[in-house]
Amino acid sequence: MVKKIKRSDGRAPDELRKPYIIKAGVVKRAQGSALVQSGKTIVIAAVYGPKKVIPKHLEDRDKAILRCRYNMITFSVKDRKKPGPDKRSVEISKVIANALSRVVMLEEYPRTLIDVDLEVIQADAGTRVAALTAASVALADAGIAMKDLMPAVAAGRANGQILLDLTKEEEDAEDAVDMPFAYIPSTGEITLLQMDGIVDLNEIKKMIDLAKKGAQQIYELQVKALKERYAALATLSEVVK
Ligand code: UDP
Repeated sequence: MVKKIKRSDGRAPDELRKPYIIKAGVVKRAQGSALVQSGKTIVIAAVYGPKKVIPKHLEDRDKAILRCRYNMITFSVKDRKKPGPDKRSVEISKVIANALSRVVMLEEYPRTLIDVDLEVIQADAGTRVAALTAASVALADAGIAMKDLMPAVAAGRANGQILLDLTKEEEDAEDAVDMPFAYIPSTGEITLLQMDGIVDLNEIKKMIDLAKKGAQQIYELQVKALKERYAALATLSEVVK
């Protein structure tokens, strides 16, 4: 049971940020796309592929290559972000690709490449989990075979409390712990678990419980976003018949 003390934005410790929005099909030119907004954090995911691998010698004859590119745009943060990749974005791209490769049925698309581009439009902590949440919706929107969607959220600690979906202000608390988390609801498999800060085992267990509950809520929003997308497409096909 998480202690209910209000946070600076008025949330209970186990509440997601407001607004928490997921939309599928937000980018016209990509095969699949999604937007995730968690409070002031906004990320767009766009999927291209499966497509030819160039140069050809890089292709894998048994499965698709999943290439993820996480990027913070220059005006996503308070101090202008220097454009281009850095150590952090390369690491985040890699952990996102590793996590997604647990749900995408890559073996269905041998000798191809699937690009997942993740643009952080506005950052207020939790960008990697918002990017992962957007990525699996965008992949589903692109019609790519998947075992399940993959909701992701951070849990952590700030000001002596175990919290869900921390803001940057909370992440900057003196005793802060941040634990980005992703999992596959149908199997219970944890596909991302990182951590900054010092915690005891009991706190880790509480954080994982809280993250799972938050991820379950996000999963429902992911499913709803895809249903809305398909309902809109069905209406459009009625109109153009
Ligand atoms: N941040 C920033 N500039 C940077 C990198 C990060 O201002 O170059 C901020 C941004 O708000 C980000 C937060 O620090 O969301 C936390 O970054 P972290 O590396 O923990 O990743 P995240 O929580 O966004 O996945």
